[in-house]
Amino acid sequence: MDYPEILGWLRETDPHRLDRLWEQADRARRENVGDEVHLRGLIEVSNYCVRRCAYCGIGADNQAVQRYRMTDAEIMDCVRQAVGFGYGTVVLQAGEDYGLTRRGVADLVARIKADTPLAVTLSLGERQSADLAAWRRAGADRYLLRFETSRRDLYDRIHPSRDGRRSDRIAILRELRDLGYEVGSGVMIGIPGQTYEYLARDIQTFGELDLDMIGVGPYIPHPATPLGRGEASSPARSGEQVPATEAMTYKVLALARLVCPRANIPSTTALATLNLAGGRELGLCRGANVIMPSLTPAEYRPMYEIYPDKACIREDAEQCHGCLRARIHAIGRTVGAGRGDSPNRAARESVTSCVPSNP
Ligand code: SAM
Repeated sequence: MDYPEILGWLRETDPHRLDRLWEQADRARRENVGDEVHLRGLIEVSNYCVRRCAYCGIGADNQAVQRYRMTDAEIMDCVRQAVGFGYGTVVLQAGEDYGLTRRGVADLVARIKADTPLAVTLSLGERQSADLAAWRRAGADRYLLRFETSRRDLYDRIHPSRDGRRSDRIAILRELRDLGYEVGSGVMIGIPGQTYEYLARDIQTFGELDLDMIGVGPYIPHPATPLGRGEASSPARSGEQVPATEAMTYKVLALARLVCPRANIPSTTALATLNLAGGRELGLCRGANVIMPSLTPAEYRPMYEIYPDKACIREDAEQCHGCLRARIHAIGRTVGAGRGDSPNRAARESVTSCVPSNP
């Protein structure tokens, strides 16, 4: 799918034509990654963060947030719950927290890998190369880092430099690929100042990066952030601002599936936040094949409020597990068995291994 076609779909409003997009995306999903929905148990291990991302409710400047960092014992309890629920993966996510040390995270990953059959995904921010390399050596399988927008001026406005160093997530994504991780990224939809053209370019970038996992969700303003207060943004030209709506999120999900047919794509919590009754299911019917049930202990969930009224903030792991399985079965899909590794990575590696090393 080329840029003009992506842009055309992003601007499309005719419901009948959009039905064609949903059908194409659903077919591509079925043909490339099948009917299984893989469950990734999400553990939000810490809400400390050194970054000042202009959109995020747990950024360093938000003094109202009560900070927590889970102990290894607490994390291992959640990991055992993931095994008990039959999940194939745990995702350890946090703010960019240097209290999570290179050694500490490596030991934890090694322990999870030794004690369980689970795949381990990390989502710990823009860490140094040596950290990322150590965690990969310890056995981490995947890393998630959204680039949020491919438009450099918008990116710089919402990701202030730290220690005089300009943030560059695309460079980190390339490094993660070289280290052998399955690489996941994505964007928020409807960031103030994001135009249709920027978003079309973001979707093309998914393809250029050959992503193994793609996470997209609506931008939801948090009142205690610069962007939520109406600062740090430069308005898009009239009629060009992407709306942060449910409908736009489905379009981006569907287009992501068509651009990267073999990627693992979650139907996200932010989508469920916009439509608790059916957002996750519609996401699964319009390109997504992954759900990330929260395993974060109930007492920490309200402290990981990256945006207001986040879905499932008052549930516990047992409730999320039961609810999500029922939703998957209700739309005629099955819960995935095993780790749910990326078919995209497998395909890339089989192509690479066919290239003669000594032509
Ligand atoms: N620190 C890690 C990182 O930056 O990748 C992981 C945690 S971060 C909170 C995870 C994701 O939350 C971000 O990539 C961003 O897309 C999303 N997020 C943060 N604030 C948001 C908001 N106001 N609306 C929607 N999504 C948001």
